[in-house]
Amino acid sequence: MPRFLLIGLDGAEPSLIGPWMAEGRLPHLARLAERGTFLRASSTVPCATFPAWATCVTGVGPGRHGLIDFTEMIRGQYAIRFKNGTFRQAPALWNVLSDAGKRVGVLGVPGTYPPEPVNGFIVSGFDSPVATRIDASFVHPPALYPEVRQWRFADFQESDIGPGWHDRAIPLLLRAVDEKSAIAVRLLAREPWDFFMVVFGESDTVAHHFWMFHDPRSPRYRRGREHAIREVYERLDDAVGALVRAAGEDVVVGVVSDHGFGGAGTGVVHLNNWLAERGYLRFCPTNGGLIKRAAMACVPEHWRGGLFRRFRGVAARAESGSRFGGIDWSATAAWSEELNYFPSVRVNLEGREPKGQVRARDYDAFVRDLCHELEDWGPVARAWPRAELYDGPHVDRAPDIILELALENGYAHSCLRARGGPGFRRLRDEEYFGAKERGMNGTHRPTGMLILSEPCAATEARLEDVAPTVLATLGVPAPPMEGQALLHPHIEVLPRGEGTRVAREVCPYSEDEARTVEKRLRALGYYE
Ligand SMILES: [Zn+2]
Repeated sequence: MPRFLLIGLDGAEPSLIGPWMAEGRLPHLARLAERGTFLRASSTVPCATFPAWATCVTGVGPGRHGLIDFTEMIRGQYAIRFKNGTFRQAPALWNVLSDAGKRVGVLGVPGTYPPEPVNGFIVSGFDSPVATRIDASFVHPPALYPEVRQWRFADFQESDIGPGWHDRAIPLLLRAVDEKSAIAVRLLAREPWDFFMVVFGESDTVAHHFWMFHDPRSPRYRRGREHAIREVYERLDDAVGALVRAAGEDVVVGVVSDHGFGGAGTGVVHLNNWLAERGYLRFCPTNGGLIKRAAMACVPEHWRGGLFRRFRGVAARAESGSRFGGIDWSATAAWSEELNYFPSVRVNLEGREPKGQVRARDYDAFVRDLCHELEDWGPVARAWPRAELYDGPHVDRAPDIILELALENGYAHSCLRARGGPGFRRLRDEEYFGAKERGMNGTHRPTGMLILSEPCAATEARLEDVAPTVLATLGVPAPPMEGQALLHPHIEVLPRGEGTRVAREVCPYSEDEARTVEKRLRALGYYE
């Protein structure tokens, strides 16, 4: 029976990889693709880290695995909570394989914190937007921690891009690829395994911040650093080569990206302003409650991830204040959380929200009409009622309306938070560099890629196909999945409407602790 090595390159874009393989710049990926398969692979909606990787490892869509976003709304409140791996409602590859007696090694898959007990080892991937590195709580078994403690997600924060940031970032990204690759190579060569999965986030980070340098046609183009993205891809190709060598004989290799990448233009959509213009939303007379998230910069970088994990409740309250503050709920029928990576609209529904304004019997017609109005506006390409996009028992965790913003000459609009002002505007010159929450200059696209070291008949893939492909190759029966095995296609497709498994939820802090830290965070300027 062969073994399976699955390498994740977060956000790796097929239209970059294809030409660079052809030019001989990515020889290890090219060799895999030549003897095997190079496919475009469609991502989830939204094409964002948590839902996409969860789909990749479960073989089911967001309506079934339930990890639709980092956060979800708390029922009956205008508030959110942060989610982590315990919210995943469908078994991942390592659960299924462990149960079947196979040994697994899993490194850095986003949305897998806290680590699950598996037959083998797991180092969780990043669990929050502010995490930069792992600590001992990321590792199972704990004895492995000293050996993997160098594992990091980023050596810098991306919410504040000051002078010199880009020059500092490139060597740090390259070093992170080398360090992760060295850790993975050591474990690959030493540990027994049937399935080994490792995810690199550097391809995503570099493309978010360096697209404007890479692409001379970008409306945000700046000279200099034009090869930063390519350099990181080349370094990742070296890592792929080293991993494949270390994996040894009789191994099927898959290289997958959770979504693709493209440039962001200069258009900015302020959804709540637009909803206010159309009479769907009213702002409070004062902007109380809106929070300066950038003030988190006062907290030393290496504390942030830990603070966040320990005091998720506090962070959730701060984030809730930012998303929901300044809106007059008694005069609002629809509003948006204004997330750049997940543009959407929510209905203020009677019986669900505390001050719901739309009656339940009007819901369907209200959503349908609002979708049409959004699509007629211009900056929105598509507006879907959630039931049209998702299937499964967790559809109600999604926003009521999911949007795909239009591209302008191939460049994406940014969706940014505002309280008052126009519904659509142009970025000012000084905003072109962007930052997290402030419109990054490269953004996700819905089509990523899948390279398999074996030939297959398929001409395109979906992220849902990855898990069944792994299980079929390893000869392990799959639980119900929505994807198809691309290499040994004898797996059944899931009948619609079947649930999977029950939530496990952890609450790692007490209310008392939370209040103390809230006070400290406020003193640090985390609250306005
Ligand atoms: Zn990203």
